[in-house]
Amino acid sequence: MTKKIFIFTLLTLLLLTSCLFLQPQAEATPVPPATATEPVNLSTFKAGLNPQYHAVIDELSNASLYQIDFVIGDNLYQITGKQSVNYTNNEDVTLNEIHFRLFPNILGGKMTVKNVKVNNESVEPKYSLNDSLLIIPLEKPLKTDEKINISMEFDISIPRSVDLNYGVQAYYNDVLALAHAYPMIAVYDDEGWNSEIPSQSGDVTYADMSFFIVTVDAPKDLVLVASGIETNVEETGNRQRVRYEAGPVRDFYLVGSPNYQEFVKEVDGVTLRFYTPSYMQSGAEESLGYAAQSIKIFNEKYGVYPYTELDFVSTPTLALGIEYPGVIAITDWIMEPQIGYLESTVVHEVAHQWFYNLVGNDQLDEPWLDESLAQFATMQYFEERYGEEGMLAFRRELKGRWAYVGNEEIPVGLPVRDYSGVEYSGIVYGRGALFFIELENEMGSDNFDTFMKNYVMNNAWGISTTEILRAEAESSCGCDLAELFEVWVYR
Ligand SMILES: [Zn+2]
Repeated sequence: MTKKIFIFTLLTLLLLTSCLFLQPQAEATPVPPATATEPVNLSTFKAGLNPQYHAVIDELSNASLYQIDFVIGDNLYQITGKQSVNYTNNEDVTLNEIHFRLFPNILGGKMTVKNVKVNNESVEPKYSLNDSLLIIPLEKPLKTDEKINISMEFDISIPRSVDLNYGVQAYYNDVLALAHAYPMIAVYDDEGWNSEIPSQSGDVTYADMSFFIVTVDAPKDLVLVASGIETNVEETGNRQRVRYEAGPVRDFYLVGSPNYQEFVKEVDGVTLRFYTPSYMQSGAEESLGYAAQSIKIFNEKYGVYPYTELDFVSTPTLALGIEYPGVIAITDWIMEPQIGYLESTVVHEVAHQWFYNLVGNDQLDEPWLDESLAQFATMQYFEERYGEEGMLAFRRELKGRWAYVGNEEIPVGLPVRDYSGVEYSGIVYGRGALFFIELENEMGSDNFDTFMKNYVMNNAWGISTTEILRAEAESSCGCDLAELFEVWVYR
């Protein structure tokens, strides 16, 4: 998430105080969810993937397959859904429980779940972390490589304000933003099932690659945008039913507005689309230009963008921009190019398609792995496009962020929860990116370029850690980087 929040504290406060949180009211939703489960041949997901990555579908054939039906009520803030997940135990231990995150319960809304079944047998789930964690006990423990199906139904009330968690889930100003709006499987890692209540400063998710087949039943005038590709649309009366296929992706994002117009651009086999009200056309076209140039640069430097499509939407989010797999949200108020934040925000969010989505990381425990790298990649973009002057201008911005916390040598590799809001911005978005300049100086430019390519390609579709990044760097330069990491990264 680009959260240049420290610069915008005053503005944010103004926005926060001008938003009124209205309690969602119960209202019947018009159409019951359809049955979700259907047999799926994973090769269907090739259509949304760059051909260079088609082999990954076989490699990830044991990744979770979500089949979700959303029904968006006519009021646009009451949502019902039904979800079926084919889950394989890819861990080297037997699992007695499966953990799902219910993010609406900590993002200002409310999600309830019912009819939870494992292999079609009803189970009684447990709740934790302010009802944001749904724990499904397994009557029969699931051994490594064994598969199960977990299904459930859910209801969500979406807040009609953007004053919590940057408005990533909100119905506000005629935009319905549905980030992480389904029961989402947590990551099982060296900590076991890895879940916590996220700090207000950072991103909230940490997820493995998964496949998604999603249908959305919604009012017909809502222009819908989602992760993946649209594969079918049916219209009946004043309703539409749209089908999406996305994967491998770390999340499924859905957003809609009756006011969206579509602006399109092609680059290197990728279709870029910007959805925004028509009065923001100039910002949309500028953004598509920045996006096209950044994709060309990052394709060259880090490896090819994974999908056939990348969508942008303008939303009233309180962050400048937010990354989702194959979709980027840009906040409305920077859509005027003369305001000056559009280019760096678009490029930062495009960089997240490599650092966050293609190479994953625990965004709560090691946020620098995606945020500092997205900032550094943005500096590389400015250098490629505008030469040394462009690079120096962006480097000054990075230094300015660090200076905002007094150039304190606070480690860049800490969890979000260990930083204050201002430190999170100054260290993770400022000092963390400056670390990569130091790393390049230490390794030499050729070694550094090789390292960045290797880091992305060797960890693509998986989850990286600080130790993995350091090992990749050390193997590319054949040098010992312990001291540099000690000074900049570790506690
Ligand atoms: Zn970011």
